[in-house]
Amino acid sequence: MSLFSPPVARLVEEFEKLPGIGHKTAQRLAFHVLNLTPEKVENLAGAIIEAKQKTKYCSVCSNLTESDPCSLCGSTNRDHSIICVVEDPRDVVAMERTREFKGTYHVLHGAISPMEGIGPEDIKIKELLDRIREGNVKEVILATNPKIEGEATAMYISKLLKPLGIRTTRIAHGIPVGGDLEYADEVTLTKALEGRREI
Ligand SMILES: [Zn+2]
Repeated sequence: MSLFSPPVARLVEEFEKLPGIGHKTAQRLAFHVLNLTPEKVENLAGAIIEAKQKTKYCSVCSNLTESDPCSLCGSTNRDHSIICVVEDPRDVVAMERTREFKGTYHVLHGAISPMEGIGPEDIKIKELLDRIREGNVKEVILATNPKIEGEATAMYISKLLKPLGIRTTRIAHGIPVGGDLEYADEVTLTKALEGRREI
């Protein structure tokens, strides 16, 4: 039996469902909320509801957006012939922060993972192919994460794209800036070597 009143127990339960939140943290968050003024609680709840209600998938790139198409897909300043494929909307934010990339994106919303029962049909690969078949795409950059799932996803997509005759590249992975070679694992070092270029 819970030592909390039903409403408080429910709040703890809801927090516990969030990623990375254990029972103790859920309790701490619940009591933090209970200590807030009614106005602050309404702001918090309102922000959650508004973010969910006003956010949808862009019909072109599947990124989360308030308007469809999203600002990147709708922009005339971007190179629409280059698509950078990423796993997560947060990866788009990370790429944009570099200010290096001037193409467009495609967000898969996950990666292929047989261990977790996630197949190609569970992520937005079909949407990517549909988009490529519409034409005008010259290059697809596979920027999925350098983990087993991300590598498998990149391999899978590159095989699908090969018959379409589209230039397909994989971002180079390597030693993080400030990282030490001796602490890098084998996959990282191998990728760093593969991704080498002339200087
Ligand atoms: Zn878009």
